[in-house]
Amino acid sequence: MERLVDILELTSKLIKEKAIEFGAAVCGIGTLDIFEGENPQRDPKSILPGAKCIVGFGIPVPRGLYHALETGGQSYTYTSVGVKMIEEDYAEIFLFKIGNIIEDFGYDACLQRSVPNLRIKGDKTTNPEVVDTYELIHAEAVAPGKPVPDVLIDFGKAAKACGIGHEGKSGRIINDKYGPYMRYMFIITDAPLECNGEYETNHCEGCDECSKACPGNAIDANGLDTWQCAVYYKGAHRSNRFMTDDFLAGDPERDDILDGKKRFDAESARKVIRQMHFLPSTKGYAACLCEKACDRACYKHIKGEK
Ligand code: SF4
Ligand code: SF4
Repeated sequence: MERLVDILELTSKLIKEKAIEFGAAVCGIGTLDIFEGENPQRDPKSILPGAKCIVGFGIPVPRGLYHALETGGQSYTYTSVGVKMIEEDYAEIFLFKIGNIIEDFGYDACLQRSVPNLRIKGDKTTNPEVVDTYELIHAEAVAPGKPVPDVLIDFGKAAKACGIGHEGKSGRIINDKYGPYMRYMFIITDAPLECNGEYETNHCEGCDECSKACPGNAIDANGLDTWQCAVYYKGAHRSNRFMTDDFLAGDPERDDILDGKKRFDAESARKVIRQMHFLPSTKGYAACLCEKACDRACYKHIKGEK
C-alpha cells in the first residue's frame, strides 16, 4: 500500500479531509498572528520557533451524555467517556495520526492536547478538572529571554486563530454548530499550509444563562472562577444526588457552602475537595456532579432551545 507522502502533496485540504476521516467534526488552520506579543509561556513559537501555522481540531462530546446528566440518569459516563476518553485516548491517537502525516512530508508537528492538571507559573485560569492542579511555581527559564517551561498555549486563542470557535464568558470555547459541546486539540507546525481566516463571530452575548445555571456561582462578570468551579463541579451543592447528611457535618459553613454562597480560594477549595468522595474518579478525572449546568444552559441559548 502506498503512503500518502509518495502520491500526494501536503495541503490544507489533505489535512482537513484526514481530520474528518479520523473523527474530528471541525478542522481549521490559522496563522500565528493572534499570538503576536503573547506571553512567551503561552506562545506557540516558544514551542516551535520556526512555526508557520497552527492546525485546530474539534471532537464533539455526544449530546446524549449531557441529556443523561440533565435527566439525572447518569453522572459518571460524561466524565469517563465525554472527558477522560476523548482527552486521554482519542485525542492522543488522533493527534499521532495527523502528526505522522505532517512529519512524513518532512515538517515538524508539535501535538497539543489539553493538560487540565498543569498550569504555567502564575496562571490561575485553567479549570482544575482533575484531582488537583500542579502549578509550575518552581520552573525557571534556561537562559534570560527564554520562556519558563512548560509552555502551554491558550486554547481559546488557538481556536479563534484556526477559525473553529470563540471563547465565551464561561471560559468554554463555543462553536456555532456544537456550542460548548466539543473538545479541542491542536498541532503547531512549520509546514507552509494555506490558512483560513479567524473565527469572527463571538456567539457569547453575555446572556448569563451559564452563570444562573451554576450551583456554585462560579461564573461572574470576571468570567470563570476556577477554584469555585472545582468545588461545585465535584458536588458541594444541594442538587448533588449522591450527597449524604454526614458531608461537612458540624462545619459551621456547611449551609453557605451547599447554597453556593461561600467564595473559595485554592486553599479552602482543596480542604473541601479532600472530603468529597461521592463517586470514584476515573484516571484522576473527578466525576461531574454539577451536571455541567453551565454548558447545557449555554448550548440551549446558542441553539434557541427552551
Ligand atoms: S451562556 Fe451566554 S454568557 Fe454564558 S458563555 Fe454561553 S452565550 Fe456566553
Ligand atoms: S456549572 Fe459546573 S462546570 Fe459550570 S461553572 Fe458551575 S461548577 Fe463549573
